Formats: sequence, structure tokens, C-alpha cells
Amino acid sequence: MTRPLVALLSGAGISTDSGIPDYRGPNGLWRRDPEAEKLVTYDFYMGDPEIRRRSWQMRRGNRTLRAEPNAAHRAVVDLERAGVPVRVITQNVDGLHQLAGLPARKVLELHGSARSFVCTRCHARGPMRDALARVEAGEEDPPCLECGGILKSATVFFGERLDPVVLGQALAIAKACQVFLAVGTTLQVQPAAGLAGVAADHGARLIVVNAEPTPYDARADEVVREPIGTALPRLLAALRDGEGGGG
Ligand code: ZN
Repeated sequence: MTRPLVALLSGAGISTDSGIPDYRGPNGLWRRDPEAEKLVTYDFYMGDPEIRRRSWQMRRGNRTLRAEPNAAHRAVVDLERAGVPVRVITQNVDGLHQLAGLPARKVLELHGSARSFVCTRCHARGPMRDALARVEAGEEDPPCLECGGILKSATVFFGERLDPVVLGQALAIAKACQVFLAVGTTLQVQPAAGLAGVAADHGARLIVVNAEPTPYDARADEVVREPIGTALPRLLAALRDGEGGGG
């Protein structure tokens, strides 16, 4: 007997208890501040050394890199350790699912990771803390040590495409899962939002956990408005204890 596959799509709301604000959502900080948005917009970044210098300064102060997982992240790890097949698809770049203890191969980061840098020319990658150490040491716009190219955060900038491989894997999970939880996401940013519809189309039980209404509430089997930090541990404990499970 196989246990049901649980897919969890997480958005900014799952990390607010960790002190990370919503940066890139429809009402996120970047969308409300055009100057800040330039720092994470590909063409501005590549075309202007001053934008890059300011971006590195922004990363030095980035709370995301100092944040700790919260009860919701830990609840997902508990579910996985109880032997329930779990896959996380996240819109977040904070790496907190992995930091909480979820194996990296079970987490799909649709928008990349703020914990790594990547070279825009040769695609070499490394820990963001290594690049930031060079900034601290006086390099205002540290070039790639392999090829001299421009380095950026390994996050998907505005004007960049999502990784088609990651997106394909997310779609496959949405189609294959028996339970799809959308947690802390407004489900307004495509293509991530559409995954909820794909899961429902393929027969998954759709559970929406979000403070605000979402476009998919009407299709959901369950809509939960209570705070994620209490709602998610409760919902996942019920799944863990085999409610509706057993295949
Ligand atoms: Zn390079």
C-alpha cells in the first residue's frame, strides 16, 4: 500500500513568522518601490554597475539570510520524517524548508535561492556568504572567480524566465499528488498559482491556507484562514495520522 503523496506549495506567508516580509508578491515591497525593483530586474542589473553596487549592499542587509525556520516549516519536516511522501514547491527564496531539515531534493524552488550566487556568464554557483564576504572585504561588485563575469543572486529576477526543468517537475507533482496544500500564497502569480488548478483537475484534495481570499478558494475542498503557524501543524498532523491515507 502506498501512502498518498502530499504536495505543498508555499508562498511568502509561511515565512512571515520568521521575520521575512513579502518582497515579490503582487503587494510586495518591490512592487511598491520601483527603485528597489530595479535592483532585482535583470536588464537594469546587467546594464548598470551602480545598480549592482546597490544590490550587493542590499544583500548585505538581507534579513532572509539570517532568518530561522518556524513552526510551519518544522511541521512539514515532521510529516516527511513520519514516512509520508512529501514534495514542497516554494515561491520563497529563503531556503527555510531545507534549513528546517527537509532534504533538498524534496524542495523545488520556483524562484531560486537567495542563499547562493550564480555567474551570469559561465553559470558557476557558490554560497552567497562567500560572495558577501568579498563585498565586506571591499569589492563593490565582485566578479566571477572562474571567468570574470557578472555575479548575481541565484534568485529569478524580474525579466528572467523560471527554470523550465523545475517548472516541469512542479507540474508533474501537481498532477501526481493526492493532497495539494497552498500555504501562505495569494495564488495570483503564474505559473505557480496554476499548479493549484492542475492538482484539482487531476483529482487532488485542494486545501488553501491563507489569511486573504485567493482565486482558488471556490475550487478548494477546504479553506483555512487561521494563522499558518497553528493551522499547518494541525492539518499536517491529521495527514500524518492517516486521515484519508492508506491508499
Ligand atoms: Zn563565471
